[in-house]
Amino acid sequence: MEAGRPVLRLDIRATVWLTCQRCLGRFTEDLDIQTVLPVARDEAELARWEAEDPLVDALVAETRQGLAALVEDEILLSLPVAPRHPDGGCPGQA
Ligand SMILES: [Zn+2]
Repeated sequence: MEAGRPVLRLDIRATVWLTCQRCLGRFTEDLDIQTVLPVARDEAELARWEAEDPLVDALVAETRQGLAALVEDEILLSLPVAPRHPDGGCPGQA
């Protein structure tokens, strides 16, 4: 990836409700997500980056993806796959 490309810096703080996989109780989790997404000029540039690094997480400047959708994606990506209370933290557990 060339130096000097514009990047989108996201700093997301959110509180989400999760369902504990152990006791099915609901609990909140505070998310604090910082991410920096390089912005590609067009699809061709993005394809070049992806050829260099298949895991690259980048945006295309032309894409009309709303900022809200972007933030939602980042939040969904950061959620635990199997949310649960900390060990011993389920309500009613000895
Ligand atoms: Zn629980």
